[in-house]
Amino acid sequence: MQVGIIGAGMAGCAAARRLVQGGAQVTVLEARDRPGGRIWTDRSLGCPIDLGAAWLHGAEANPLSARARSLEHLDSDVLNNLFFNPLGEPLTMELSRQVQEAGLDLAAQAMDLASRSPEPLSMAEAMGRVFLESGNPEPWRARVRSLPIADMTAFAARPDALSGKPLEGLERFLPGGLDQLLDWRSCNLLLSTPVHRLTWTDSKVEAATSRGSFRFDRVILTLPLGVLQGERVQFDPPLPDWKKDAIRALGTEVLNKVALRFDQAVWPLEPDFLSLNQPDGETDVFFNGHKALGQPVLVGFVVGQRARAFESAGSEKTVECQLASLRRAFPGLGRPQAVLVSSWGSDPYSLGAYCLRPPGVEGEAHDLLARPVGPLGFAGEATSRAYPGTLLGAWLSGRREADRLVSP
Ligand SMILES: Cc1cc2nc3c(=O)[nH]c(=O)nc-3n(C[C@H](O)[C@H](O)[C@H](O)COP(=O)(O)OP(=O)(O)OC[C@H]3O[C@@H](n4cnc5c(N)ncnc54)[C@H](O)[C@@H]3O)c2cc1C
Repeated sequence: MQVGIIGAGMAGCAAARRLVQGGAQVTVLEARDRPGGRIWTDRSLGCPIDLGAAWLHGAEANPLSARARSLEHLDSDVLNNLFFNPLGEPLTMELSRQVQEAGLDLAAQAMDLASRSPEPLSMAEAMGRVFLESGNPEPWRARVRSLPIADMTAFAARPDALSGKPLEGLERFLPGGLDQLLDWRSCNLLLSTPVHRLTWTDSKVEAATSRGSFRFDRVILTLPLGVLQGERVQFDPPLPDWKKDAIRALGTEVLNKVALRFDQAVWPLEPDFLSLNQPDGETDVFFNGHKALGQPVLVGFVVGQRARAFESAGSEKTVECQLASLRRAFPGLGRPQAVLVSSWGSDPYSLGAYCLRPPGVEGEAHDLLARPVGPLGFAGEATSRAYPGTLLGAWLSGRREADRLVSP
């Protein structure tokens, strides 16, 4: 059987491995000039920097950990996060831990409330109610913003539009780069080959690309939700209405990373993360490359509306804002020698960092997104009801679609 896989990210890789094992002839059509999709390990700063996914969430129970076992790995502790107040003064590690735990507790209560609520409730509304119920007199919005919301959701989403349940437990990090998890042996991987049209009958699919047309018996699409929503690929005949509804029902979130390499590290070595509370109420979170990589590198996280605003303003502005926030805590910080900034929201081959489920949208939307249409299978993180927005969800979805075509 000739199987085409559209997209060489984690879902595409998982599908390819399974299909190759099952004896299928596999061709992977990838738009970018590199494989990995939202796994993007850049080595231009002199050390591997993951500008997309970087951690295996819930490492103990995460089956991907088995694949990472033979590779150099370490576990990041989200509670090992040093907080700084808006004046740039560090809290003690003990107080930082308490702030973090308070944030986690708030998120857990809000998630519980939202899941029990008869009417659709966003995380922001649920957090507000938790605050009010606790009799806290201060305006809850300001309180919520000063807590490490980004950490609580494992950098998952802005709190008013949270989807899925975070995987709990250890966060496994691969200092050599997450792209080591990918394996394209025995399949025909074609890079720089964007698909723009799929013409299908019950038994054949023709994929029109910038490098000519390819014919397959079956195709597995792993296109990110944003790409499907943006109708970047045309279908002939068009997809049925139920599929279009599922594509529209889910939302996309933006998370960007800003990697900064300095001459020397003037920040503490021990914390895994640094969280800088800003005078405007935002919290800027940085991953400490000094600890994890032994390099004078910090990787900042920018989420939600702020990430979209920074993408519009350009990477220079993003870097300046991150530096301003860092200098409040570390006045001796020099200019960075080199920087890397991701733009997942405007990247035409992702159009978002990952999916989220808006309040009121049921998990069934993921199932409908996953349901095949004729010879077209649908994989990718957004098709995973159990683990949307994660590597695990993407990996499981690729295996699921391959298993429909060859016996496991
Ligand atoms: C900044 C960031 C941080 C993250 N952190 C984590 C984390 O720490 N842990 C975690 O578990 N998850 C994390 N995630 C989520 C994780 O990266 C994704 O869930 C996962 O990588 C998605 O894999 P996928 O195969 O579904 O999609 P993708 O990796 O996006 O693969 C889809 C592929 O399709 C290709 N494509 C698009 N359009 C076309 C076209 N027209 N023709 C051909 N090919 C096309 C794309 O180029 C891409 O390679 C993060 C995501 C981001 C953006």
